[in-house]
Amino acid sequence: VDTPSRTRVAILGCTGSIGTQALDVCKQHSDKLEVVALSAHSRTENLVHFAHEFAVRHVAVTSEAHRGDAVLSELPSACELHTGSRCAEELVELEDVDVVLVAIVGAAGLSVSHAVLKSGKRLALANKESLVVGGDLLMPMVQPGQMLPVDSEHCAIFQCLLGENPREAHCIWLTCSGGPFYGRSLDELADVTRHDALAHPTWNMGAKITVDSATLMNKGLERIEAMHLFGMDIDRIKVLIQRESKIHSMVEFEDGSVMAHLGASDMRIPIQYAFSYPERWSTPAPRVDFREIAQLTFGAPDMESFRCLKLAEIAAKQGGTLPCVLNAANEIAVDAFLHDACTFTGIADIVEACMDEHDCQKVVSFEQLSDVDAWAREQARGIISSRF
Ligand code: NAD
Ligand code: MG
Repeated sequence: VDTPSRTRVAILGCTGSIGTQALDVCKQHSDKLEVVALSAHSRTENLVHFAHEFAVRHVAVTSEAHRGDAVLSELPSACELHTGSRCAEELVELEDVDVVLVAIVGAAGLSVSHAVLKSGKRLALANKESLVVGGDLLMPMVQPGQMLPVDSEHCAIFQCLLGENPREAHCIWLTCSGGPFYGRSLDELADVTRHDALAHPTWNMGAKITVDSATLMNKGLERIEAMHLFGMDIDRIKVLIQRESKIHSMVEFEDGSVMAHLGASDMRIPIQYAFSYPERWSTPAPRVDFREIAQLTFGAPDMESFRCLKLAEIAAKQGGTLPCVLNAANEIAVDAFLHDACTFTGIADIVEACMDEHDCQKVVSFEQLSDVDAWAREQARGIISSRF
């Protein structure tokens, strides 16, 4: 039944890890959430399946190569198919959409996040790359309460800051599982394979972010994301190894008080919060019995072995277009690693070489970012074909 009070949701990147978990949240809270629009890049069979399951009115296929997939003829008759270079943005602009979850992977999410902010609708942001690349342009557009971070650490920090004066926050402790190669030296990282890297201890995620979690580039990107979201200097965003992934991050205030966010390691919780805020709805995940957690362990990250973390810090400090180069080069390098076209430690080499070659500029426009992104990808491809 149609109740006008339901929040109408668009999920962009619905076939991915975050996208499918978001659909699960929508199913569990179908009295409060209505899925009205979905996008997918390639897995059109899954898209068609979800369109039926949720009686969705609009779908978009973002990849040119999949717009003609035969399975798309099986979409529900009331469902409109959007194609073309702006099809994801078209879903954002639909009159019957209230909230947009950007669960697209990579810098491809930037133009969509921009469109959501421009529309005035709520942006549930999983796509951290949007802020890493375009934070300077996006943040000034954000209206109070408009952007809800889905990244678990940032959702945690957001909650720790509720009701507080942000100027009284002394620092952020950004927690990090350490990834599958925690404790290894740079030498011991040299022969890591794609298979090793894809076996992440805690979260079940898309391939790109899983590799980023193994190189710790993910944590580097998250520091830049936090810098933009919470307007804090990068030196005050400290990475804390928390092996059990039970503390999702902490905020330390001027008076020495530290607020932490704890709970199950389940992305459906932050996804749901981005939809429910400022309300809290019943949990989609099993609750944690803290009596059964033997210990919580802490440590400092090893920036010498995990060089991507250091490179992200350099990019954050320099600012301008350098984070865009870091991100684009990393996307190409990770893709190469996933196709056995470069080594694990080669990822940092490629990113560093691209950063070294870049003539950093102040960020002035989305067109400029798109040009810099394209330049960095070309540069990275050249390095891969000449060195690996
Ligand atoms: P994924 O690879 O599982 O899914 C990516 C989705 O984006 C798919 O639906 C795919 O069809 C779509 N997509 C891929 N390329 C695209 C393009 N060029 N244009 C438009 N759509 C495209 O990735 P994921 O793990 O779900 O991650 C999605 C985003 O959420 C990433 O930015 C990631 O950093 C962030 N995130 C993920 C997790 C997690 O637990 N998976 C946690 C925090 C943040
Ligand atoms: Mg995270």
